[in-house]
Amino acid sequence: MRVAFLGLGAIGAPMASHLARRYDLAVWNRTRARAEAFTQRHGGRIASTPREAVQGAEVVLTCLPTSAEVEALLGGPDGMEAGLAAGALFLDCTSGDPATSRRIAERLAARGVAFADCPVSGGTNGAEAGTLTVMVGADPATFQRAQPVLSAFGRRIEHMGPVGAGCAVKAVNNALLAVNIEAVGEGFAALVKAGVPARKALEVVNASSGRSFVSEVLVPERVLTGAWPQTFRLALLEKDVRIALGLLAETGVHGPVLELVGEVFRRARAELGEDADYLEAIKLVEQQAGATIRG
Ligand code: NDP
Repeated sequence: MRVAFLGLGAIGAPMASHLARRYDLAVWNRTRARAEAFTQRHGGRIASTPREAVQGAEVVLTCLPTSAEVEALLGGPDGMEAGLAAGALFLDCTSGDPATSRRIAERLAARGVAFADCPVSGGTNGAEAGTLTVMVGADPATFQRAQPVLSAFGRRIEHMGPVGAGCAVKAVNNALLAVNIEAVGEGFAALVKAGVPARKALEVVNASSGRSFVSEVLVPERVLTGAWPQTFRLALLEKDVRIALGLLAETGVHGPVLELVGEVFRRARAELGEDADYLEAIKLVEQQAGATIRG
């Protein structure tokens, strides 16, 4: 089967590598050098334009920063719409926003192309291992068609509801992640300043009711060690919290905690820039506190 993948970023490239093993894959990336590095390592063909990438493809996958970039790649003479054939399946793995996803779905439906929003969770390690969780928003028939393709990189593939529902769940998930990062950073900076060894405090929290993915995995692997790898841009997490806040506003839910965390991450993005890793939010807490969480 012919498949196209557009957006070979930090998570897109390892996702696409699994597709290259199963399918006849065409790839497109804005920066061509990244596509060249990908095909040298994993095979597949490089397309010069989004239009060329999707021509003849039965399934098209995108993984771009936001839904706005996906929408922007649809139109124009070199855009995806010019190359998509009726009957194709379009799977957007961007952590996008529900409203734009619905707009894209309608636009593609007018051309006979089925759409599903399929954001993923599990990080770059999960993408390498092919064990991502995939949250799908689509009609039931489109979900059935999408499942076998998504299983190339996904272990848990869940149908969350109609188009937009995948993005909504992903945004709330990441808003919770952001809350945890900030709260763990603040709490542990205070514990260190109070003279408690960070590792010992973490071990106890992880055997208690305050534990989370942040305390069980991220802090021990990245903060205590001082490794700070770059796997997921803080700018993208800030975007996810903003999407979650949009969902709260749309549904009339008062959200003081998420609003505050949104503000904290907005400031962190402005201060640390577009390339900083998401966990560097904890570095800002450390700086402000004058304490380092190591051990
Ligand atoms: P990156 O910033 O690493 O990569 C972004 C990709 O989008 C690159 O291929 C980039 O191309 C391309 N791109 C950016 N702007 C444009 C544009 N205007 N037109 C065309 N292409 C563009 O992001 P990630 O791979 O980390 O994230 C992609 C999506 O997956 C995001 O929605 C993110 O929130 C989500 N996600 C990421 C996770 C992670 O751990 N990294 C985990 C789960 C979800 P170029 O190479 O030219 O810059």
